[in-house]
Amino acid sequence: MSDGLTAVRGVFQFAAAARSTAAVARSDDTGAIQVLQQQDNAGLHYASPEQFDLAAAIPGLPQEVLFADGSRFIPDDPNWRWPSAALRSRWLEWLENHWLAILAAALLVPFVTAWTLVKGVPMLSVVVADHVPEVVIKSSSSGTLDTLDATLFSPSTLSKQQRLAVNQQWLQLAERAGLEAQRYQLTFRQWGDDDAVANAFALPDGTLVLTDRLVHLMQDDPDALNAVLLHEVGHVYHRHGIEMMAQSATMSLAIAMMLGSVDGIADVMLGAGVGLVQNGFSRDMEREADLYAFRKLADSGRDANDLARAMLLLQGNNRELEATAASEDTDNSGWLEESNRQQLMEYLSTHPMTNERIELARSIAHCQQEGGSWRQCYQQAQ
Ligand SMILES: [Zn+2]
Repeated sequence: MSDGLTAVRGVFQFAAAARSTAAVARSDDTGAIQVLQQQDNAGLHYASPEQFDLAAAIPGLPQEVLFADGSRFIPDDPNWRWPSAALRSRWLEWLENHWLAILAAALLVPFVTAWTLVKGVPMLSVVVADHVPEVVIKSSSSGTLDTLDATLFSPSTLSKQQRLAVNQQWLQLAERAGLEAQRYQLTFRQWGDDDAVANAFALPDGTLVLTDRLVHLMQDDPDALNAVLLHEVGHVYHRHGIEMMAQSATMSLAIAMMLGSVDGIADVMLGAGVGLVQNGFSRDMEREADLYAFRKLADSGRDANDLARAMLLLQGNNRELEATAASEDTDNSGWLEESNRQQLMEYLSTHPMTNERIELARSIAHCQQEGGSWRQCYQQAQ
């Protein structure tokens, strides 16, 4: 009782009785509180840290101890504060009782984070993509094209006749394939300073963008060009573009929420559309779009060979382009500006026209030519 630091005089109120007595309370280094009668040091109460609560420390008021059985101790000294040992030991005790949960949480957090980014975001994106209103799809599509026009594209130099011819071929195929032709409007652009890139891609609203180089590359094989367009329509049909935009937006939001900041989110979401062209679709999306093309080709009396030829032509063009772009490494005065060249290299490395896809299309075509349906042939070719 002699260590004045941890002992304090006060009043002990008995539980469930309107009776109190002068007492001394002391707290030991385990955080337990012992209350003794002031007169004779007789023990009145003992409580380990989990058996009492401390009242809130209010300036000018003594800090009461509320024991679990309903009794309480009120220090005389209004400035008395219970040593933090009481709090600390209770915290340590809590840790001891919950260490497993804490360890589990520590191990789980990275997994939960990774899951959220790898699985949760794409899953959420699919749900979000299904509910994006038409007006948002329209405005983000035209916004994307505006951005691309300002950065990557320049106006087409195809003649009016050339464009009409491509449109005509496309309309005929669309009709045979049972597509709503108005939904899929063609528009033409140059990509690369020297019209280097042969490509087509679909905006989520169904606008199909073709580069001049693509039209030139396939001018002797309009069926191949149509197959490319059907593949692009497959991306629209399966809502891949919207899914990618939703994914990019939810990913940014998820990261921002984890980091606790939503600054700059609007910018990231605006940029989401452009990612369509630069990052491309996943393998699964490409496969789905190919399958859609195989089906529509069959519907219109063609076979998978049209797509196989188209991919071969694109592959040839890309290889040529890649070689040229790579040789520009040591020469900055070439036909591509540095920034464009880098974008192009990135594009080419993330959009390999894989032999795998060409092989699949060819073996499906072979099977179709022997009289198989596109579905049977696809299953066989797997
Ligand atoms: Zn594709």
